[in-house]
Amino acid sequence: MTLEISAIEALDPLAKIEAAKEHNIRFAELQFTDIMGIVKGVTIPLHQLKGSLQNGTWFDGSSVEGFTRIAESDQWLKPDMDTFAEIPWKPGHGELGAGPLGSRGTARVICDVYTPDGKPFVGDPRGVLKRQLERATKLGYVWNAGPELEFFLFRKDENGEIKPLPHDNAGYFDFSTDLGANIRQDMVNALEAFGISVEAAHHEVAAGQHEIDFRYADGLKTADNAVTFKFTLKAIAQIHGLYATFMPKPIFGINGSGMHTHQSLYSIAESRNAFADPENQYGLSDLARSYMAGILAHARGMIAVLAPLVNSYKRLVPGYEAPTYLTWGRTNRSALIRVPKVSPGISIEATRVEVRCPDPSSNTYLAFAAMLAAGLDGVEKGLELAPPVEESLYAMSPERIKKAGIRELPGTLGEAIDELERDEVICAALGDHVLTHYVEAKRAEWDEYRTQVSTWEVEKYLDAF
Ligand code: GLU
Ligand code: MG
Repeated sequence: MTLEISAIEALDPLAKIEAAKEHNIRFAELQFTDIMGIVKGVTIPLHQLKGSLQNGTWFDGSSVEGFTRIAESDQWLKPDMDTFAEIPWKPGHGELGAGPLGSRGTARVICDVYTPDGKPFVGDPRGVLKRQLERATKLGYVWNAGPELEFFLFRKDENGEIKPLPHDNAGYFDFSTDLGANIRQDMVNALEAFGISVEAAHHEVAAGQHEIDFRYADGLKTADNAVTFKFTLKAIAQIHGLYATFMPKPIFGINGSGMHTHQSLYSIAESRNAFADPENQYGLSDLARSYMAGILAHARGMIAVLAPLVNSYKRLVPGYEAPTYLTWGRTNRSALIRVPKVSPGISIEATRVEVRCPDPSSNTYLAFAAMLAAGLDGVEKGLELAPPVEESLYAMSPERIKKAGIRELPGTLGEAIDELERDEVICAALGDHVLTHYVEAKRAEWDEYRTQVSTWEVEKYLDAF
């Protein structure tokens, strides 16, 4: 049995370590992410964790993407014991994980990154999110978020190579008894062992595509959960001989994978959801409306963070339930922001807005920080929200869209990076360090892509010209 989160969550850090020891856990995996959102980690024997809590665990930051230069390479990790949980596929007992030389039981701990002089490192993505969350707290709010991560489960080809080969032919909400449905259930069990409370799991629209939704929480907990979610799903798929990918558009001509993010502000002083106003036609308070206006105003500036890959822009095209236009609506899935209906009988505390442009390849900490910064800018400036567009934008002619003054998301990563550099609010939210490294890396990625000659070009032009 995996160490139950409910049995340890109320314990202090040292008591957690004791409980883990009694449970045959022998290691701690100290984790953080680089600026691209790739999970990094160092494994220490559990008996070193107490020392790490006191003195930190040092590492060479110059070898981590976007961290430091050689000359200033030393950094240290400060474990956040609120995130202490046993990695469920590595228990120190039973068939999985226990090796011939003893227990491989391992607990995961997410860490903050610090500089030698004891300051939070400005380039730590988790720190970037914490700064925005603190800004919200100063304004009197807790930012709550709940993402819907979509993903594909693929097979390997006969040579064992990773290829985009869907393992099923099912569609949206199909009930199936195939391997995918079993794997989803194993994924849910693994996520819950990490303390992530799953709400529902279903087959998505495209063949081989799935979605698992978990309960919303404050922004930091949710971002930690999203990072955990991604490596958990990859690990469980691998155990079953498949692989899970969060690549936004792995296959041309069918839906891609999004990370729609539901969000709201909770008033600390009034102990209530500050987005809710039952008097308003959409159930939205003035605060929520200004927040949405902020999201729309900065959508072009922050999309390079929310949809960070060359491939992300192949998802953000008309016709596949992903947004392309900067609008909002109740039911409109082509709009950038959707306002889910809060059914009668459900508490208005559930009022929230769903931002549909992010995709799951983003660094969740940076994507959350950017959206919160955009929303709070709308709040602080009291921005006016344009009227909703309920008509499907995919069906509207380009002339009508233009006439209505509706703006679009950038069409490529190259354009998105230019927009990011122009948006002072998003630049400030990322901070100089992250911004500089991010833009440099993304520009190089874009340049590498745009100079390639693709199969499509060869097939289209070689013979014709
Ligand atoms: N897969 C779609 C996207 O790329 C979303 C489908 C849905 O509404 O769940 O955003
Ligand atoms: Mg979905």
